[in-house]
Amino acid sequence: MKVTVSAIKADIGSIGGHTRPSDELLESVKKTVKEHAQNLYDYYVGFTGDDIHIIMSHSKGPDNKEIHKLAWDAFTEATKIAKGQGLYGAGQDLLKDAFSGNVKGMGPGVAEIEMEERPSEVFSIFAADKTEPGAFNFPFWRMFVDARSSTGLLINESLAEGVLFRIMDVMSGKVADLKMWQDKPELEAALMYPGRYVVHSVFSYDGEQILSASTDRLHNIAGTYVGKDDPIAIVRTQKNFPATEEAGSAFNEPHFVAGNTRGSHHMPLMPVKVNSSASINYSIPIVSCLVFSMHNGVFTGPHDGFGTVDWDLQRMWAAERAMIMRNQGFVHPATLVPEELEYNKGYEARMAKLNNKFKEL
Ligand SMILES: [Mg+2]
Repeated sequence: MKVTVSAIKADIGSIGGHTRPSDELLESVKKTVKEHAQNLYDYYVGFTGDDIHIIMSHSKGPDNKEIHKLAWDAFTEATKIAKGQGLYGAGQDLLKDAFSGNVKGMGPGVAEIEMEERPSEVFSIFAADKTEPGAFNFPFWRMFVDARSSTGLLINESLAEGVLFRIMDVMSGKVADLKMWQDKPELEAALMYPGRYVVHSVFSYDGEQILSASTDRLHNIAGTYVGKDDPIAIVRTQKNFPATEEAGSAFNEPHFVAGNTRGSHHMPLMPVKVNSSASINYSIPIVSCLVFSMHNGVFTGPHDGFGTVDWDLQRMWAAERAMIMRNQGFVHPATLVPEELEYNKGYEARMAKLNNKFKEL
């Protein structure tokens, strides 16, 4: 049977800064989704830092108006609570006043896969906060290209055939399809620049969709570059896809990503437990992993993918790397390069004043 999994996320306000949504906010989102659950096989609501995610299974396919409206209504209704509580950034990801048929381009992030459900359908949701979609470039490369990270690339017939990466240029909104293994160097040339090129989706050699990531928002809001958007991704695992452990362990080397406080710094991506708050230690970027089983569209889980005790080691590595970077304050590469700071009005103002002082020697 055909099932679509939709993961839709938004930041609609959090307690005392960019930390986590209030319990009342989460309850409100759950209540709205529950009221419309007749349209769904199943759903789950949770959060990573200040972002609330709604995971839904249904029969209506990707980009479905009813499903997107359900999420939009849940976020809009809960925003009233956020405003009533004076939460910080209340409704900040709802960029339009009226729903227009698809939440893409309206603020929330969306990842969706329509699939022929396998007898044991399993997938993981990776939900990040305080970073940008390019933060997933390195772990996705490890999952599907790097045999040092995933032995499955050698010993699984399907993965050994090579997957197809669809990457997006977030400046132009264009996508390129790159087939492994012949396009490997071009893929790597793109992935080395996460601020510009991001993974949109991944397909098996015979065309089955394995991965979907929330990139669409980046180019859809006319006239505004909104590249710094916390990503969410769905990765199907097991059988002809990466093992759940190959997908999860791709996050076990906390690499430096853009984002953090004021969206202006580089810090390591820390794997955290499901429903973790963002840290007020300079907003270390975080990612959580929700592991699901699904049968006839009904979820079992989520199991907390980064919840086991061994991940405490990676958390400590990330915290240590974060401090090493923070020790050099505002000096690159602790802060982003000027082109990526340019959307920051304060930085523009500083540079305008500085440029006025430059004279011929
Ligand atoms: Mg966020």
